[in-house]
Amino acid sequence: MAKLTIRNLNVRGKRVFVRVDYNVPMEETDGQMVINDATRIKETLPTLDLLIAGGARIILAAHLGRPKGKREPALSLRPVAAKLADLINRPVAFVDDCIGEKVEQTAGLLKEGDILLLENTRYYDQEEANDSAFAAQLAKVADSYVNDAFGAAHRAHASTEGVARVVAGRGGQCAAGLLMERELKFLGDELENPPRPFVVILGGAKVSDKIQVIDRLLEKADAILIGGAMAYTFKLAQGYKVGKSLVEPDKTDVAKAALDKAKARGVKFLLPTDNTIVTPIKTEKLNKKGKPIIEFDKPRTNAEANIPDGEEGVDIGPATAAAFSEVILGANTILWNGPMGIFEDKRFAAGTNAIAKAVVDATAKGAKSIIGGGDSVKALNKAGLGNKVTFMSTGGGASLEFLEGKELPGVAALTNK
Ligand code: AMP
Repeated sequence: MAKLTIRNLNVRGKRVFVRVDYNVPMEETDGQMVINDATRIKETLPTLDLLIAGGARIILAAHLGRPKGKREPALSLRPVAAKLADLINRPVAFVDDCIGEKVEQTAGLLKEGDILLLENTRYYDQEEANDSAFAAQLAKVADSYVNDAFGAAHRAHASTEGVARVVAGRGGQCAAGLLMERELKFLGDELENPPRPFVVILGGAKVSDKIQVIDRLLEKADAILIGGAMAYTFKLAQGYKVGKSLVEPDKTDVAKAALDKAKARGVKFLLPTDNTIVTPIKTEKLNKKGKPIIEFDKPRTNAEANIPDGEEGVDIGPATAAAFSEVILGANTILWNGPMGIFEDKRFAAGTNAIAKAVVDATAKGAKSIIGGGDSVKALNKAGLGNKVTFMSTGGGASLEFLEGKELPGVAALTNK
């Protein structure tokens, strides 16, 4: 269902309540919280510029971290107001609350084009509980509602869903921001009837996290390439040995069903034929959770499909990377979610980097490449290739749920066109 976007709104003189994703990484330096990466703030600028040009009185709401209903000073959005003012080159007012008299007064004083950022919505338990009285309090300063926080749209919280319902109930309009609009376009519309061949690359830790995505995409894709630890559950289902690799033995039936479905539909389903393996060694050192730290010894290529007992697969091998790359280079549409190995350790990043390069090369040849959020976005950025793909989603969990075909509550609450 097509949703209203801010392009369809007349916002002049109206108080527009905008839910943004300002859940930025911060670090304490000399007793002050400093923003490490302002990407999420920068990404809202097109929406804000359009609202300013339209003469809106802008009220921004967001969450930061998990304060669990308490006023956690380290999780205040105040530094974000300062950063946003820098980036947008105009003053940004800040109120140290997200509901109440002070908020209403300050919002009332806003002139056309003025911006007010409210304090962390998760300072209240009622936010995550989607409490209707709390949503009504948020809505007191909202003539219209805009959601530009795709990364939080899979949650039905007061600021992502409840407040939209209140505004809509009063006959107000609820629209997608420009960032949200792009997410819905690339993860939704563009994958409805993708130019073929449509190649899907999936990796990461667990089959159980992505099985619904696999199941849905098996109905659309021409080829599915599986790497990461999740590949080992498929290999186990095929009767191969996986040694000490991360695996979900109780999910082999699910994996088998996906393999059968791929066969029945004629979808090419590629799994690793070689791997980078290591010998895992338990050390005396403990991690934060009190568990022994495992060191990875003797990284080497295992050119066989079986992984020897006692060894662990940590990345796809060079032959697999080459085979996957060939399929990717022949694609016209590519969707990628999840790394091919433990890419955080550069000894095991080669497979993920090879896939990133193939995706970038295919894009340069004219393919549309859509990166479904999370670690694949991190991997591309780490390799300096982030700007060389068609679209990188800003959502992790939200992208996966959307790709599963679920309706996201934060999107469902917006006004239909
Ligand atoms: P996900 O959040 O499901 O996309 O999983 C990402 C995580 O999977 C990353 O932290 C990777 O280190 C991890 N991962 C990928 N391949 C492997 C592997 N072969 N063994 C263990 N962890 C892996």
